[in-house]
Amino acid sequence: MLSCSFCGKPQKLVSKLVVGPGVHICEDCIITCGRIISEESSSETLPAGFSTHIETSSPKELPSHAFVGQLLKPKDIHKRLDEHIIGQERTKKILSVAVYNHYKRLYLSHESYGDTELKKSNILLIGPTGTGKTLFAETLAKMLHLPFTIADATTLTEAGYVGEDVETMLSRLLQAADYDISLAEKGIIYIDEIDKISRKSENPSITRDVSGEGVQQALLKILEGTKSNIPLKGNRKHPQQELITLDTSNILFITGGAFHGIESVIRSRLRDKSYGFVSPLKNSKKLKEETLFDNIQAEDLQKFGIIPELIGRLPVIAPLQSLDELALVRILTEPKNAISKQFQKLMAMDDIALTFEEAALKMIAKIAVKKKVGARALRAIMEDIMLEHMYEAPSSKRKKITIGLDETSAYINKNLSEKLKEELEKESVKLHT
Ligand code: ADP
Repeated sequence: MLSCSFCGKPQKLVSKLVVGPGVHICEDCIITCGRIISEESSSETLPAGFSTHIETSSPKELPSHAFVGQLLKPKDIHKRLDEHIIGQERTKKILSVAVYNHYKRLYLSHESYGDTELKKSNILLIGPTGTGKTLFAETLAKMLHLPFTIADATTLTEAGYVGEDVETMLSRLLQAADYDISLAEKGIIYIDEIDKISRKSENPSITRDVSGEGVQQALLKILEGTKSNIPLKGNRKHPQQELITLDTSNILFITGGAFHGIESVIRSRLRDKSYGFVSPLKNSKKLKEETLFDNIQAEDLQKFGIIPELIGRLPVIAPLQSLDELALVRILTEPKNAISKQFQKLMAMDDIALTFEEAALKMIAKIAVKKKVGARALRAIMEDIMLEHMYEAPSSKRKKITIGLDETSAYINKNLSEKLKEELEKESVKLHT
């Protein structure tokens, strides 16, 4: 049965329910929104340069139960993630719960539920390149209609003035929120390559790696929640420039990294433990990399060079698995914006029906596996394979194009090393038969 996505009232209790793509709104909520819009647009209190972003509701205005109706529940979040992300089921579950809890903490009135303080659950995504870490953060932000920005932890290392860089990240979020401070304060920031700012030595007193640790300390502050002064426009602080105070307490930070080499740290910890009475792992060598990440613990991250205080601020750890051939074929074809669908659409605009043979899709996935950059390789391979067709087809009379193993072989011959060519040609022969 349908219900209003804003107040949660079921269809049978409302006179009218307007249905949109994935959302529904009842007549009462439409009237409330209309009232908020007319009140907001008549207020002249906003400083110059600010847009009048209108929130459909504010925690103070509506009873707290309304937000239970408004918040997407973990299962709904999971379902939406499924539309864009292939596999990574455990990550989807962990993130659905973490994000739900984060916004419950934000929107539900704390007083009604006792004085237990709910801590913010910033997230750490661990997994190889091109497995969907950025995609997860981006998809969540889009789904929740929240401002979103991506920062790269390594750029924080390069600049001498750490504080400035951290603020740059916040000012980009503010920009994404169209300068609506309260909206930016609920946004999502994805910090990539967090593993690259690890302390180079486990023992800080011996080799103090100032740059890495300094950046971690700077991040810690904003992850914990601080009131940060950021310039209204541009990146650099300037005495005459107007500063805005942004409270980072409710910003959801999602951090991500590949953590190359942490496998051996986890393995050796598990092996050490197996000498005790409780043996969590009899033969750790047999444990596959994917399953290994599921066993990751705070102490492994500390050994890797992340300071304990920062680990403490990233209580939700979600491992992502490397994508195998099957997953890559699915990525090519299944998501809403799947690459093959995008090319089909482009070709359809020239009245050309584009099809991909299954063997060709498998071959493209095999090439991507060899390139070892996860799904990242797919787009570039596809662009290369499609280039000639996209160049020629619009001026020819062709109405049909089929991509098969001839096209993938041509790509392999043109772009790959002798060794990879040999390996892939053997695979190609198998697919032919
Ligand atoms: P990471 O941040 O882990 O390095 P990204 O999220 O940037 O990887 O992935 C790069 C691209 O690969 C994405 O834009 C997306 O198109 C595709 N991709 C990666 N993983 C997945 C996945 N699990 N499902 C669907 N597409 C994916």
